[in-house]
Amino acid sequence: MTGMTSMLMSPAVPIVLSHPPVLRMTPPPTSRNDCKPVPGIKPPKKRRRLSLIKGKIHKLIMCNSIIFLSIQDCPICFEELCSNSGYEENKASSVVYKLDKCGHVFHKSCLAAMYNSGPKDGSLQCPTCKAIYGVKHGNQPAGSMDYHVIPYSLPGYRESETIRIIYNIPPGTQGPEHPHPGKRYSARGFPRHCYLPNNDEGRKALRLLIIAWDRRLLFTIGTSATTSEPNTVTWNEIHHKTEFGSNLTGHGYPDPQYLDNLLMELGTQGVTEADL
Ligand SMILES: [Zn+2]
Ligand SMILES: [Zn+2]
Repeated sequence: MTGMTSMLMSPAVPIVLSHPPVLRMTPPPTSRNDCKPVPGIKPPKKRRRLSLIKGKIHKLIMCNSIIFLSIQDCPICFEELCSNSGYEENKASSVVYKLDKCGHVFHKSCLAAMYNSGPKDGSLQCPTCKAIYGVKHGNQPAGSMDYHVIPYSLPGYRESETIRIIYNIPPGTQGPEHPHPGKRYSARGFPRHCYLPNNDEGRKALRLLIIAWDRRLLFTIGTSATTSEPNTVTWNEIHHKTEFGSNLTGHGYPDPQYLDNLLMELGTQGVTEADL
C-alpha cells in the first residue's frame, strides 16, 4: 500500500520507451536448407587460391619487339635506344620493346629490371605515362571463399534478402611472396562472415570480390591494426561489412555509401566492371 502510494505521489519521471541500440553481429541461425545460391552467380567450388602468377615480362606486356633505330633515349636508363641498355652492357644488339597501349619505347632489359625491382605482382606501369599493363595480383594466403543468400534483410535494405560471404583462412607458413618467408603466420577471427544486400548492386560487388579473391587481393600478411600482432592475416584495404544487424562497430549497415566505396577500393586494386 505504501509502495503504491509513494509511486502515485512521486514526481513525474519521464519514461524511456526506446531501447539503446543492440549489437547484432550475426543473423538468426540459418539452416543449410534456408541458404540459397546467389542468383546469376556460379556457386563457389571452395574457391582456393591460385598459384602465384610468375611475372613473365614478355607475356605480361604483349609488346612488340622492334628494332628501333633512333637517337631517342630510353626513359629508364637514359642511354640511346639504338645502343645497349644501361642494364645489360654485354649484349651486342639492343632489343627494345614498344608498349602496345601507349606506344612508349624502352630497352627490353630496362623494362625487365624495372619489373623485377618492384613487387612482381603481375602488373607493370609505364614509367613515362603511368599506363598499367597486366593484372595486379596479391599475396593472400591459402583459404576458401563461400557465399549464399540467407532469408534476412540488412538495415537499409528491407526489400532485399542478404548475401553472406564466408572467408576461411587457416594459419600457415609464409611463402616467398610474404614479408618473412619460412616464418609462421596466425589467422584470427576466421571464418569471417561478411554481408551484402542481395540486389543488383550487391551481386555486382560479389562478382568483383570473387575476382579479387582469385587474384589474391582481399587479404595479406602483416601486422594487425587492432592488436599490433605481427605475421598475421589482415584485410588488404578492401573493406567488408562484418556486422549484420546494427552498425555499432562501423562495419555494419545502414551505410548508403558503402557499395560505392567498395567498388572504388576494388578499382584501386585493378578490379573493375571491365573484368566482369
Ligand atoms: Zn634503357
Ligand atoms: Zn607509356
